[in-house]
Order: sequence, then structure tokens, then C-alpha cells
Amino acid sequence: MTEQNLQAADAAERTVAWVDDLIDRFASLSETHGSDGVTRLGYTPLERRAHQVFATFMSDLGLSVHSDTAGNTIAELAGDGRCDGIGTGSHLDSVPHGGRFDGIVGVVAAMLCAQTLTSSGYQPRHPLRFVVFANEEGARFGQACNGSRLAAGTTDAEALGELRDRDGISVLEAMHSVGLDPERLNDARWRREDWDSFVEVHIEQGSVLADGADDIGIVDTISGSTRLRLTVHGVASHSGGTPMLARHDALVSASAIVLAANALARDPEHFGTRITIGRIVASPNSMTTIPGEVTLDVDIRDVDTDRQRQTALALIAKAKELALLHETSLDAHLIADTAPTLLSHRLVELASHETDRLGMVHRVLPSGASHDTQQISHVCETGMLFVPSRHGGVSHSPDEFSRTDDIARGVQVLTGLVKALDLTDRQPRS
Ligand SMILES: [Zn+2]
Repeated sequence: MTEQNLQAADAAERTVAWVDDLIDRFASLSETHGSDGVTRLGYTPLERRAHQVFATFMSDLGLSVHSDTAGNTIAELAGDGRCDGIGTGSHLDSVPHGGRFDGIVGVVAAMLCAQTLTSSGYQPRHPLRFVVFANEEGARFGQACNGSRLAAGTTDAEALGELRDRDGISVLEAMHSVGLDPERLNDARWRREDWDSFVEVHIEQGSVLADGADDIGIVDTISGSTRLRLTVHGVASHSGGTPMLARHDALVSASAIVLAANALARDPEHFGTRITIGRIVASPNSMTTIPGEVTLDVDIRDVDTDRQRQTALALIAKAKELALLHETSLDAHLIADTAPTLLSHRLVELASHETDRLGMVHRVLPSGASHDTQQISHVCETGMLFVPSRHGGVSHSPDEFSRTDDIARGVQVLTGLVKALDLTDRQPRS
């Protein structure tokens, strides 16, 4: 082994030890522990403490660190005077009873990438920025990616004022309560001229990579999603007094719609479309009353914009037909609609080259889940690396698991990719 190889092996071993240590440190900052998983919701004191762990680690490495008005924390390693930075990072908030890896892996990868670069004395040309986005999970306020949306300018204070959590606290109030300054949210907006590119490392949250025995995934597309609220109107009435033939049962109608939605996504023309009805509210929800009204929240995801929207229209048409068949009526309301995002082809190529150079097996794949990178793609070229998820790819659950050596490989590819981006000059924008 040459001295260089020995040094590389030594650095890789240190990275593995740091991965475990940092994942444990973040997991301990939680309302829940052990088999109850990690609970660290967006814009809470626990999320801010996790950002502080990141900030302290990065300033100990000699980087300059600041937190913006949206609560995003950014550490910068200065370049040679250029202003267009290369960024990497993810989020540190979780869903209730979530896992130890979603978001965390991308932040840990950013921290260890910075550590590898500074310990080897790397002098970047571009400023390198390591970012933790605030409040990525939609779990608390219903809308995902608050911090990155504010950075990308895809939301503003007015829209955020309308989003409230279960206790009626608005996003702006929650930001205020953790010491942020929601009156100056525009200051958090990123300018295009300040950014060259951005890469996020994330766990796959699926089992494609583990099933294929791949070392790492390179994401080329992020699914879009169309979210609908379907409300079925029937007639609430006594469960004993109303004969079966005289009923207008909204839940019977809604059940037929759930099955039809499932069948629609499974037909051969919809390969790759995913439809989920994850929330049902039946009213009055009483054992002895025929359900008079049922709302169904529908999430339709696809990597094909046209198919995603046509599927939503087809589902609404089918739902109306089924509602009528069961002697009820239906209203459809669009909650949100986000188009799929194509990530940078150049970044996919550079990442593929990097994994080949490191002797790793990669797979190019789409992301079914949404991520901060989707927002940042409104600002600059973006890419994503997926670390394999184990335990069948389960995520948003205490069973979520990624192996340390897989995460360490993610750090290696990320570090190589950041260097490659730093050294390659982008084609000028036409
Ligand atoms: Zn995530």
C-alpha cells in the first residue's frame, strides 16, 4: 500500500466512526426515544438545538456559520473570491415518531465532507456552503420544505401565515417562538448569481438500491405531486331505522372511490404513478349513524407531469361517477400541485464518473419523495445522491435504517463530487 492509499484508508475509517457518533448525537435530541423513534418537529427548540450542534461542529472546523431569518443554518468555506457557491446539505427536523436517518444523513454527509476537505487543506475556488434547511417535513404544518421554499422564493410570509399546526399555531408564530425573525423573511431568499450548484445526500426511503445490491443511487428526477380533497356528501341517518335501500351512505361511496383510485394507479398505463388516500374523515363518525359526509385526502405522485395531472382528472371523473352510483354527490378541491423536477444531467454525469472512480456500483433512479433540492432547483443546478435504506426501505418510522458503511460511501461520493464541481466550469447559461 502506498502512503497515499494508507492515508485514504485511515480517513475512511475516521469517517465511519464520526458517522455513528453524529447520528447518535442528533437522535438524542428528541421528544421520544428508543422504539418510539425520533420526534423533533420543525420550528421547535429541539430542532434549533440540532442546528446548533451542526453550527458548532462547522465553526470548530474553521468555517463561518450563520443562521438566516427562515431558520436555515449555513456554514461557508471561503473560495478564491468568486461568489457562485457550491452547496450541499439537508434537514434536521423529523416527523412524529420518525427515524434516525431521514434528513440527518444528508447533514452528517455535509459535515464530514467539510471535515475531509478542511483536514486535507483543500482550497476551493468556489465558496463551499454546507446547509441545514429548517422545517422540511410537512408533518407539523401540512406543507413540506418551508426553509428551502423561503430560500428559493416559492413561498412568502403571507402564505405561511395561513399554515397552522394542530394547536392552531401558525408557522410565523412558531418561528417567532424559537427566536427567528419572520418579519424579515425576504432576507433568506437566495440570489441566482450566488449559486453554482447544490447537491443533497438523502436516504432512499425505498428498497430499490438494497434489492439491487447497489452502493449508491444518483437521482435524475424528483416526483411531483397533486393533492386533492374529495368530499362525498350523503345523508346522515339512524343506523337502525333506515332501510338499506333508502340510504345515501357517504362512506360506502368513499370506499368504492378508494378501491377505484388504487385500481387506476395499478393499470398498465399508469406504470410509475402512485396514488395514496392516507387520510379519511367520516362524519359524524358514530357507530349508530350512517355516515353523512366523508373527506378523502388524495396524494398523486408521478415523474411525468402530464400523466400526473391527467390521473388527477381521471380520478375526479371516476369518483363523481361512483358517488352518483351510490346515490351521493362529490366535491373535488385541489390542495396543492407540484410538477416533477428534472435534476441536472451534468451533475448525474459527474456523480456517475465519481462513483466509477471510487469503484462503487451506482444506479440512476427517480425519487418518489419530495426533498429540499426540489425547491433549490428554482435557484441553481441541483443533484441528489441516495444512500441505500435497509429494512425493506421503510422510512418515517423508528425502523428506518441505513448502514454506517453505506453512509460513509455517500460521504466519499459527495466529497468527490463537490471537488469535481469546484474544478469544472459550467457551460454559460444561454
Ligand atoms: Zn427528508
